[in-house]
Order: sequence, then C-alpha cells, then structure tokens
Amino acid sequence: SGALQRARLNGPRRQDSGRLVVITGAGSGIGRETALAYGRRGAQVLCTDISAEAAEATAEVIRREGGLALSRKADVSSSRSMEALARYVDKELGAPDVLVNNAGVGLSGSLLDTSVKDWQQVLGVNLWGVIHGSRLFSRQMIDQGKGGHIVNLASAAAFMPSRMLPAYATSKSAVLMFTECLRAELAEHGIGVSAICPGVIDTPITRRTRFVGVDDDEQERLRDNAQRLYHRRAYTPDRVAAAIIEAVEDNRAVAPVSPEAVGMQWLGRFAPGLAR
Ligand code: ADP
Repeated sequence: SGALQRARLNGPRRQDSGRLVVITGAGSGIGRETALAYGRRGAQVLCTDISAEAAEATAEVIRREGGLALSRKADVSSSRSMEALARYVDKELGAPDVLVNNAGVGLSGSLLDTSVKDWQQVLGVNLWGVIHGSRLFSRQMIDQGKGGHIVNLASAAAFMPSRMLPAYATSKSAVLMFTECLRAELAEHGIGVSAICPGVIDTPITRRTRFVGVDDDEQERLRDNAQRLYHRRAYTPDRVAAAIIEAVEDNRAVAPVSPEAVGMQWLGRFAPGLAR
C-alpha cells in the first residue's frame, strides 16, 4: 500500500540511498535476496540476469516495496553482452558504487565425466563472468574517481578438493585468487574487492545442479539427496545477502558464510591436506 511504501521510504534503514548497485544473476537465489536487501536500504538496484523475466521480476518486487530498481538482460559469460551492459550503465546511470558478481551455475561430475562443453560453461559463467564484470565496471569506477566496491561470489568449495566437483571448485578457487589480485590492484583507487564463500545455502542452484556421468535415475537420486541435505543444514540466501552488505561496509577481503564454510576456509588455508 501507499502508506507502507512511504513508511519504508522514510524509515531508518536507508543506508545506501543515492548509491547504484549492479547485481548479476539477480533473478534467483542469492542474487535476488541481495537485490531485495539493497532495495530496502534505499539503493538504486540494477537487476541483471540471463533471464530477462527473472531479472524484471526481482526489480518489480523492489519497486512494489517502494524502492528503486531497473532490470536488464545480461549473459555474464559473454564479453559482448557484458560490454553492452556496461555501455548502458555508463550512459544512463553512471558508474556503479557496488558491483555484485553473483551469477553462477552448478555442475557435479568427475573430471573424466565432464565434457569440454560443460567445463566451458562452468568456467564461462562462474569465472569469466566475474572477470568480465570486474574489468568493465572497475574501469568505470576508476574513471569516475569516487571509489566503489566489487563483491565476487566464490564458495566454500574453493577450499575443498573433491573428486565430484573439479569444474565448480576450480572455478570458485580461481574467483578467490582473482579477487585477491584485484583487491591489491584496485586499493589505490579506493575500490574495495571482496570474495564471499557461502557453504550449504538453500537456493534453486541445488535443483539446477547437473550431475554428469550418471543415468537419469541416479541423477534424480543425487539431486534428491542434495536437496534433503540442503533443507536440513542450509542457511537461507538472505544470510548471504547480509554477508555481502557487511563485506562492502567493512571492506572484508574474504567472508565465509555458514559453519562448514568457516571450517573449509580454515582447513584450506592452514591444513590444505585435510580439506577433503
Ligand atoms: P545461487 O543463488 O545459489 O547462486 P541460483 O541458481 O538460484 O543459484 O541463481 C543463479 C542465477 O544466475 C539465476 O537467476 C540464473 O538465471 C543466473 N545465471 C545463470 N547463468 C547466467 C549467465 N550466464 N549470465 C547471467 N546470469 C546467469
């Protein structure tokens, strides 16, 4: 209602008003919750996703709550699509204050079962998506000279060697290293860079993860198992959204989310041989 919208607009939680936040993969899961959270904090949110409808649905919720939001279709794995997005932002909105490189895909399967095409998709979205977004939008932030923040979605899987996740875990550990390199490079421009490492989070990615190298029945069974595990132990995506906002506020280098993510981070850093 109008009264509710005004109450929200005038309420105390408007910490990010006047800031532009660009989010990739904002149509679902963690990206969607992050978009909603920034909308409630008064930011102008540009929701992007490979699904134009999903991105617009998120933007629509933000506007219904009285916030400011736009949507745009963008495929993070495509340099052309991301260049078009960057041109639009530069022309219409000005450099983002916060970029959340969130879009991701899940894939489970051993090295020998994973096709070249699957490898390219996982690395294309999870790693190249982060690289495209970072190089295009950090340029804008530098040119505009007012600093900014880039948040990259890594994963607890970045610390966890596993025979069933070579592509996904490799993409996420590369995101972590990329983040740390970029953080060193951009500090002098007043741009912070953070990696978020969620553990078991209840998002549609569990339902979308493909298990390769198994027949259809086994694929169903593995998916059911994963979902059961996730429903029992999972954090909800709004916890990750809160961690993203905190990482920006406090300029955190790496933020684990959920107990197993903390454990994996610890094992991966200090006892890598034990991280199995
Ligand atoms: P999670 O939130 O756990 O990362 P989801 O599967 O719920 O997982 O959300 C991932 C989002 O990323 C989806 O909205 C999906 O459409 C989006 N996405 C997947 N691939 C791409 C891509 N190539 N470009 C942009 N967005 C993508």
